[in-house]
Amino acid sequence: MAELNLILLGPPGSGKGTQGERLQEDLEFPYYATGDILRAAVKEGTEVGKAAKEYMDRGDLVPDEVIIGIIADRLESGEADHGFILDGFPRTVPQAEALDSKLTDLGRALTAVILIDADDEEIVRRLSGRRVCQEKGHVYHVEFNPPAEDGVCDVDGSELYTRDDDKPEVVRHRLEQYHEKTAPLVDYYKKQGLLNQVDGADDPDRVSEKIRTLVSTLSLEEG
Ligand code: ADP
Ligand code: ADP
Repeated sequence: MAELNLILLGPPGSGKGTQGERLQEDLEFPYYATGDILRAAVKEGTEVGKAAKEYMDRGDLVPDEVIIGIIADRLESGEADHGFILDGFPRTVPQAEALDSKLTDLGRALTAVILIDADDEEIVRRLSGRRVCQEKGHVYHVEFNPPAEDGVCDVDGSELYTRDDDKPEVVRHRLEQYHEKTAPLVDYYKKQGLLNQVDGADDPDRVSEKIRTLVSTLSLEEG
């Protein structure tokens, strides 16, 4: 199979995690969701987790060098040599530049950036009802994508919880951070001819369908 090096870009709550879960089922490549990696580090109490926690609680981005180091380690490990799906990274222009230069060093390049977009009002609605599983971070919504049994993950039976940073006041700050620091990446990747936009306001199945079509086209082009 062709090498596919993909990025899922978009504001918090646009559906990156939901679509990432589905994409993982289709593709065998490692899936790196930096938010999940950081939350696991906080839970384990590692140095990275201790450094990241206060930023995450406030809804700020963690410093670039922390997150760049995490992704660089994964790319150097060999496990992503045939492709990867990045969710939530890069989130700043310096992160995108660091990723470009790491891939160049490895003789590789990005295949495509998939921008899943949604407006701020929809995002607040989604994040206020988001529930996440303790075990693996599977994502639900109380109204739009409820689990079969209230408060329990369909996949692994673990308890669902509401993320602290999904409180409305923190969500507002995360959205400001997105518009200020992450949205410039849309132009950054447009200029490189890598940007593919999908309307995240559609229902989840329709969004998946569009992403699947796009990925099939990319596989054919790369293949
Ligand atoms: P969401 O799924 O709502 O977009 P994430 O789970 O991806 O949120 O991220 C949660 C938090 O983790 C962010 O608010 C930020 O503090 C931190 N984080 C995740 N990825 C990055 C990154 N690439 N750069 C800086 N901080 C990050
Ligand atoms: P992100 O990873 O971009 O922060 P998530 O995939 O965690 O976003 O989705 C945020 C919330 O919105 C979750 O509760 C999820 O169930 C819900 N959701 C995701 N995609 C859609 C959609 N297309 N329509 C309605 N709700 C959605």
